[in-house]
Amino acid sequence: MRLPAKHPGPPQPRAEISFLPCPHCGAEIRNTALRCPACGAEKHFGPTLYETAFCALAGALALPLAVWAVTGAAHWFWLGLTCAAGAALGVLAALFRFSSARWLKT
Ligand SMILES: [Zn+2]
Repeated sequence: MRLPAKHPGPPQPRAEISFLPCPHCGAEIRNTALRCPACGAEKHFGPTLYETAFCALAGALALPLAVWAVTGAAHWFWLGLTCAAGAALGVLAALFRFSSARWLKT
């Protein structure tokens, strides 16, 4: 019995270059470009340092306040612990909130 010929598999993808308008200046840029040659806008993955710091600070303030408001626990140990946990949650929130690729003007 003859075995069926092996499937050749999907065709090799061609290196196709398409162009997209820059969201900042409208210049045509390659879809693989990480930087707009016309205006200097950069494709950014994940949160910026500022966004991470802002969310960490907000968490470090909000969580101790929330714990204090609910439990009334104002001990330095809990303050430090909730501050650290709030900052960590803030960083996580920033990572999730700004997880997609964006074009930022630097
Ligand atoms: Zn541009």
